[in-house]
Formats: sequence, structure tokens, C-alpha cells
Amino acid sequence: MALMELKDVKKTYKMPGGGTFLALKGINASFDKGELVAIVGESGSGKSTLMNAIGGLDSDFDGQIIYNGKNLADLSTAELVHYHKKDIGFIFQTFNLIPHLNLIDNVSIAMTLSDIGESTRKKRAEELLRNVGLGDHMYKKPDQLSGGQKQRVAIARALANDPDVIIADEPTGALDAETTDVILDMIRDIAKEGKLVLMVTHSDKVASHCSRVLRIDNGNLISDNQQLTLEHTVNEAASNYEIKNMSLTKAIKLAFQNMKAKLSRNLLVALGSSIGIMSVVLMLALGKGVTSYVSKTMKSYTNPNITEVHKQSGMQANATKQDPSQMQNMSQTDVAKQQQNNIAALLGESNANSFAKKDIAKLKAIKHVDTLNLGYSTLTMGTNTVTYDGKKANMMQLQTMSKSISKSSIVKGNAPKGNEIMLDRATADTLDKNLVGKTVQVTMKVGQKTITQDFKVSGLYEATNGGLGISSTLFFNYDALNDLYKQNDQELKPNVVYLYTKDKANTKKIKDKVKDLGFTGSMQEQMSEMFTKMLDIITWVLTAIAGVSLLVSAIMILVVLNISVVERTKEIGVLKALGARRKDIRRIFASEAFLIGTASGIIGVVATYLLGTAINTFTSQAFDVNVVAITPQFALTGIVISIVISMIAGILPANRASKLDPVEALRKD
Ligand code: ADP
Repeated sequence: MALMELKDVKKTYKMPGGGTFLALKGINASFDKGELVAIVGESGSGKSTLMNAIGGLDSDFDGQIIYNGKNLADLSTAELVHYHKKDIGFIFQTFNLIPHLNLIDNVSIAMTLSDIGESTRKKRAEELLRNVGLGDHMYKKPDQLSGGQKQRVAIARALANDPDVIIADEPTGALDAETTDVILDMIRDIAKEGKLVLMVTHSDKVASHCSRVLRIDNGNLISDNQQLTLEHTVNEAASNYEIKNMSLTKAIKLAFQNMKAKLSRNLLVALGSSIGIMSVVLMLALGKGVTSYVSKTMKSYTNPNITEVHKQSGMQANATKQDPSQMQNMSQTDVAKQQQNNIAALLGESNANSFAKKDIAKLKAIKHVDTLNLGYSTLTMGTNTVTYDGKKANMMQLQTMSKSISKSSIVKGNAPKGNEIMLDRATADTLDKNLVGKTVQVTMKVGQKTITQDFKVSGLYEATNGGLGISSTLFFNYDALNDLYKQNDQELKPNVVYLYTKDKANTKKIKDKVKDLGFTGSMQEQMSEMFTKMLDIITWVLTAIAGVSLLVSAIMILVVLNISVVERTKEIGVLKALGARRKDIRRIFASEAFLIGTASGIIGVVATYLLGTAINTFTSQAFDVNVVAITPQFALTGIVISIVISMIAGILPANRASKLDPVEALRKD
């Protein structure tokens, strides 16, 4: 039985403008192993069309091409892939080697697509290359070879999976006379070893070396002449391995080789798209850094069992509740009045911030509150002074003691007992280096009156975490201050309340309830709220930058991979002719997107790390804090986001590549 049989093969092309063109008009022939068949004919006579059908590159023909008992037009996709890998080998006029692979990798590409292990692949490729006389050039790239040498590589490649049929499309068309003879000899040897070689040629000289000549004219087979018989030899270079489908790891490896070939371009793309990743990681790290700084600061300031409560003045409360449209309706005088009131409240000159009895009752009634302490705190504008030994210091703030002043912040002496007072260390030092235990003269406002009285200094205070507190502060015990007011016929109205709970787990609930009742927390709490709000704004800005740059990088990757598909159309055609499935091509391009994504993720994370270190160096010198906290999770998140985005961007080009028609891809110049 014949190896291959053509029965009334017809091919109709659909013309772009409508209508059809009959390029093959019913070809009948049968071929056996060991034949070297020349297919000759004028240009446009239908030779390539016939070869595409026989090569399984175009299954859309009428009639039958029977191989192994089956019509090629009826093969399933998997059978067709196997046919390409195992049964057929191609040799092209323009060689079609893959430029960025060395000769070994070029020859073993069909084996790679068949999932043959690396050592077997290499051994066989070396053997084939030695057989075609290129044993000394195995690690060269195709560009470093002459035309004849390139065609020898192509011959070695076609033989890699030991196919029964070799299709050679004008294999000597691009070679000089001398090289043509060498290549022809090699091709003849292939036929002698028992393969069927179908060779398209223009040249009568080439045809004269063949065992049989088929002449095609205008889509018809006009002659079929047996002219000589080849003496057969034994095929020594037979392969005996199992043809499988290419694994994902091999696709990734191929992608890696492609990436290396265009390294600088791919690195630039990765660099560009790493900006988005940098924004994402920086955003996360900054969020964490600032949040942990704020909570650390809060912890160092406050006793976790105590809730400090302030009362907003009526006007302040109104202002915060008012919506902006109403604010616009306020007259200039209203605004000025409100500001005056706010300042008065701050200076303790107004009662607006004082707690009324019913306020205190409400706070006392909050669940889990075990003790309630009153306090008083006010800013003074130059009225309060402390004098010692002829030296005078202005006190900016007056404050009563509370449990929220931690022991560690009293840096010298003790907390004031009874009628004693405490000063901040900075102010005390301006008066005397050893002020503790000494008696000082205090001039201060008590309600509407200004009095001068002697007090003993019990200790010195220093904020453990500087920066947020007001520096020159005079501390009294609440009861002592209350007595002082009474003695002067004034009434001390508390403007701070401290709520104490035994179990600090309840503090959060108490704080929430305090807010519900319309009161506010401590100054520090309000500042940290402000900080958090600022952080929110920064986060939004970074999110916007990240969003835009991630979009830009996705588009960039899409464009670059699309360009890559266009550049490598011919290579994709070759891979398909050698038996690459759509899936394999898609995987190669998806892997390239994956590699770009990984690279850009890593670059982004490293850049964030460097930037974060620089920012931290600056902020730790200026403010004694590290605001950027990059964790391994954040780094990983950045890399994963980068990969996901690249893969999404890679879907379109990968699909496009996988769907390329091999005939058209190979025809591309
Ligand atoms: P040859 O290889 O002998 O030069 P081809 O097989 O390439 O000839 O072409 C045979 C005929 O079919 C030519 O007239 C050519 O214009 C036509 N043809 C080839 N490919 C197409 C196509 N894709 N669409 C329409 N016509 C085509």
C-alpha cells in the first residue's frame, strides 16, 4: 500500500472581493517511502497550495489525502498536531530558523514541543547537527551562519522527530550552485534512508536529481514521470521516543529564551510598569507605618483605663454639624462672633466648654465607668507667671493632675500633693536647675481675679513623646485649685472629665458612648483623628497614581506583546508547522506576560524598599519616626498584583498569536 495517496484533491480559494478561485483542479497521485519527488511548475500553478494541503497546514480542501488510512481533512485537532510532530517535516526556502535560539535549540524545537527530556533532546540534536556537518557550530545563533549552513540546520530540524514525509519548499532556491549540490545530496540521502521527500522546485537541474517528477500547470497535474530509482540505505538516525504534548514548564522556558532575546526592551517595559506596583506597595507600607506611629504615640500618652472627655462649645458643635451650604449663608459678623467665642472658650474665659452637673451625671451613668474625676485645663495669654529668685517665667497652660499623667513623665520629684504644684522641666530649668522642693511665687488668674501666692514645687514633668504637648505648663491638684477659687469667691467649672474603668477592654465602648453623647476625646485623640484623615487623603492620592499607572502598564504590556506577535509571526508559523498546539503558543506568550509581570513586581518592590529607606532616614532624623513599614506580605501583594495585571494584558496578544493561520504566517516576509 502507498504511504500517501491523493484522490481528486481540489482547492478553492475565496476571493476577497467575493467569488472563488480554483487553485487545484483535481490532483491524483500516490507516493511511497524512499521516493524523492520533484514538484515543478510555473509560479502560481498551485505547488504551494498542494504542499500546504499535504503538510496538514490547510485542511480546507476537497477530495482526499490519505495517510495511514485516514483523510487529512478529517483529522481531529489532536491527530493533526501529532501528524505535524511525528509524521511530517518541513524544509523552507528561507530556512525559517528561530533567530534567538542556538542551533541545538533550533533543531530540538520539535522535540521540545513533543515534551522530550532535555538530555535526550540535546543528544539527538547534536547527533543530527554532526550528521549535517555542523558539529563545530552547535552553540552559534542562525545569524552567524551562511545560507547553506542555515539550510543544513533546517534539514536537521526537519529530521528531529524522524518523520516519514519531508516537505521541502524550494530548499535550494536561496543558495548558490555549489551549496545547492551539497544540500541536494543531503536531501537525496534522506530519501535513500526510506523517507518520502516531496520537493517543490523551479529548477530542471534539481528536478533531474529526483526519482520522480510531477508537473503542475494551472492547478492540474499534467505529467508524472518516474525517472530513476534511488538505491536505499539504512536509516541510522532513527528516533525512538514517545511524542507527547509540551508541558507548561517547557513553554515557560521557551518564553524565557524569547525574553532574553529582547532583554533591554522587556526590562524597560518592566521598569515602566513597576511604577504602579511601587505606588501600591508604598501606599500599603505608608499606611501601616503611619498607623503604627499614631497608635504608639497614643499609647505613650494615655493610660488605657482612662477616657479623657472634653466638651465642645455650643458654637463649635454647631459649626461642625453645619453643612457647608449653610455656612455660606452665615454673615461675616456671625463668623467673627463665633471665632471670638472659640478663642474665649480655649482661654477658659467662657463657660461654653465647662461641664454642667447634668453632663457629669450623664457621663457617670455610662456603663463600665467606675470612677469619674474632674479636671481643668486652660491656655493663658501671658497672665500666669511663676517667679523664683527674681526670675520670671510665663506659663502657657494650666492643668489639673489626672491619672492619665503617667509616672514615667514625672522626671524629677513627685506628683503634687495637696497644695503643691508641678512644672514642666523646660520652664523650671530656666528658673533654677534644682527647683524641686523650693517655693515659688505664682501669679495667676482665678476666675475674674488675678492673685499672687506661694507654692511648693513637688516635681517636674516632661512629655515622654515630645511634640504634641504645650511646653510651659503649671500643674495643680483639682481639689487644691477648687479651694483656691473658693477662697477668692470664684467658682471652678471643670472642663475636662476623666472616666476610669477597671477593665481596659471597656475603654473603647466608653469612648464610643462619649462621642454618642456629643462630647469629644482628648487633644491627642483629636490630633490622631486628624492624622488618620490626612493619611486617608494620602492613600487616595497614591491609589489614584497606582490605578492610573497600573492601567498604563497594562496597556504598555499589551502593546509590546502585540508587537512581539507581529515580529514573530513567521516563528509562530514554524512552531505550528512543527506541531505546536494553539494552547502551546498561548502558553508561551502568557508566560512572557508572566515573566514581565514578575520582573516589574520585583523591580517595584526593590524600588519601594529603596525609596522607603530614604523616606525613613529623613523622617527619623526630622521627627524620630519611620513612616514606611514594608512587610513581606506587602512585597508579595505587589508582585502578585503585577503578575495578575500583566497576565490580563497578555490575554489578547496570546490569543491572537495562537489563532494565527500557519499558511499565512509562513508566507509573511
Ligand atoms: P505556486 O506555489 O505554484 O507559485 P500557489 O499555490 O502559491 O502557487 O498559488 C496558486 C494560485 O492560487 C495562484 O494563482 C495564487 O494567486 C492563488 N492563491 C494562493 N493563495 C491564495 C489565497 N490565500 N487566496 C486566494 N488565492 C490564492
